[in-house]
Amino acid sequence: MKNQIDKLLEYKRKRTPDTPEPSGGTPHKNPIFVIQEHHASHLHWDLRLEMGGVLRSWAVPKEPPTEKGVKRLAVQTEDHPLAYADFEGVIPEGMYGAGRVKIWDRGSLEIIECIEDKIEFRLQGRKMRGEYVLLRFKRAGPNSWLFFKR
Ligand code: MN
Repeated sequence: MKNQIDKLLEYKRKRTPDTPEPSGGTPHKNPIFVIQEHHASHLHWDLRLEMGGVLRSWAVPKEPPTEKGVKRLAVQTEDHPLAYADFEGVIPEGMYGAGRVKIWDRGSLEIIECIEDKIEFRLQGRKMRGEYVLLRFKRAGPNSWLFFKR
């Protein structure tokens, strides 16, 4: 089992110390999710789930599914520190992920089942409410998952 510092090595490696992005953070009494709208070189939505002391993260190129029957590609990215759940602001030009970040939705997270290739969970946010599935989608690439409402 990797420890928390190891989980965030990639996060730190991709950034310089002068990034406006946060580090650290403390676990919430009840786990949370956040989705950040990220106006980087390509607009995308970053889904983050509080799991194991970090925010496991996926970049979703299209607006996340608020209704059943919509499947979205979700590309897993590096784990983020818990404090990232509160981050809104502008990552300066030239830095990794440059562009504006704003919180699109957030709320409580309940993990129903988590196995290697599948995570089932319940979200209670303002836009995202109900049971969701992340399913590994190896055909589309090593970090690709499908994300949909059940
Ligand atoms: Mn992003």
